[in-house]
Amino acid sequence: MQTKREQFQQEMTLLPPLETLIPEDHPLRGLNRVLDLSFVHGAVRDKYNQENGRPSIDPEVIVRLFLIQAMYGMSRVRELMREVQVNLAYRWFIGYRLDERLPDHSTLSKVLDRFGDAVFNELFERSISQCKKSGLIEGKVLHVDATTIRADLDRNRVEKADSPDPDARFGRFPGDKLEPGYKQHTIADGRSRVILGLSVTSADRPEHDEAIPILDDALRRLEEDVPEAVCGDAAYASGENYMKMKKRGQRLISPPPKAKTYTGDEYFSTEDFEYDEENDLFVCPWGTPLKYVYTEKKRGRRIYQALRTDCRKCPLKSGCTKAEKRQLKVSAYHSGLVQLRAASKTKDFKELYSTRAPVIEGVFAEAKQWHGLGRAWRRGLSKMLVQSLLIATVINLKRLMARLVGFRRPIRAFLRAIWALVQLSLIDISAKPASSVQLRVR
Ligand code: SF4
Repeated sequence: MQTKREQFQQEMTLLPPLETLIPEDHPLRGLNRVLDLSFVHGAVRDKYNQENGRPSIDPEVIVRLFLIQAMYGMSRVRELMREVQVNLAYRWFIGYRLDERLPDHSTLSKVLDRFGDAVFNELFERSISQCKKSGLIEGKVLHVDATTIRADLDRNRVEKADSPDPDARFGRFPGDKLEPGYKQHTIADGRSRVILGLSVTSADRPEHDEAIPILDDALRRLEEDVPEAVCGDAAYASGENYMKMKKRGQRLISPPPKAKTYTGDEYFSTEDFEYDEENDLFVCPWGTPLKYVYTEKKRGRRIYQALRTDCRKCPLKSGCTKAEKRQLKVSAYHSGLVQLRAASKTKDFKELYSTRAPVIEGVFAEAKQWHGLGRAWRRGLSKMLVQSLLIATVINLKRLMARLVGFRRPIRAFLRAIWALVQLSLIDISAKPASSVQLRVR
């Protein structure tokens, strides 16, 4: 039967508890189940005057509000508070009744200045240890990469004395566009895609230099589980990263750069010279040693040289150098680069590298599309870090929620099967009427 409401937007006089209005499978219910905010009050105790002053907004409410912002990728606090005003699930998540007055958006921004990043760092750390305890993290292969985040800043005010965001710098964005912003350097577990470490720099900083610090963070969090390999794109490939990871027990899986000749493509490249690590010298294609002579002060490259007398009589000289003697300039970690180049030709290396993009680029796509990582919500490096930590925490907790739901499904199915058996055992089939079997449930 069709019906027609007489009045819309009428006054509600009697309300059921908010709890009963939130669907069981609402994402915020899931988040609430796995969220551990027991540490928040203790962590920000010294940020408040404990004796005097006006009563503050509960710090846990503040953190919950920022988690809603990260969960739904709302870039503005004003927008966040407007949504919380009208969304029952958001109100329920922060523990506010429908008739309770919400904190003002300006208060929230001020509180962030007061908190700094420590509490959000702790939140992120806890999300990783929860994922680890649940057995979600495999930790065998890690993936490292960086993504750019557009700053909330006019292009013409970058690096100006009066710039509202003095930390933002020009960097390469998709489409090879130069835009002001930041870079989030991230390391994630290959199987679970849990984010194990991150750092934030201005957009002009190279990825290469950030790999080892975030790897060390991830190793600390993984404790005794030492990963076998770390995959990264060509930006991470260097002898230095290879050797540093080798020292920590990992293989670097990253496509190495082509060997340079410094003398033109028609001449032998460093790849054509065999490096003798024990004696620290190179052997040229004609079998002559090139000995170490000095290290460049500015770039730290090591210089190796053949003897003029050897090169003069060499039949291969026209394909080697037009100078009197051949010289090689290599990095201090050249042997690492040689090993990386050799490893890059193996099947195992290629297979591992093929797993890189779906994992780490998938994490970035998720963070940008659903959680608002594409644009900086606030100005300054420290606030950008808070945004990154919140989004990474939400992503990790989503993985944990999915795992718990995954666990629950078979448990529920098992319990349902048990219940069905119990029901069957309660069915009394002993009493048989004359014509047929009558089932009776006690
Ligand atoms: S020119 Fe000198 S360095 Fe080059 S192949 Fe001949 S001997 Fe070796």
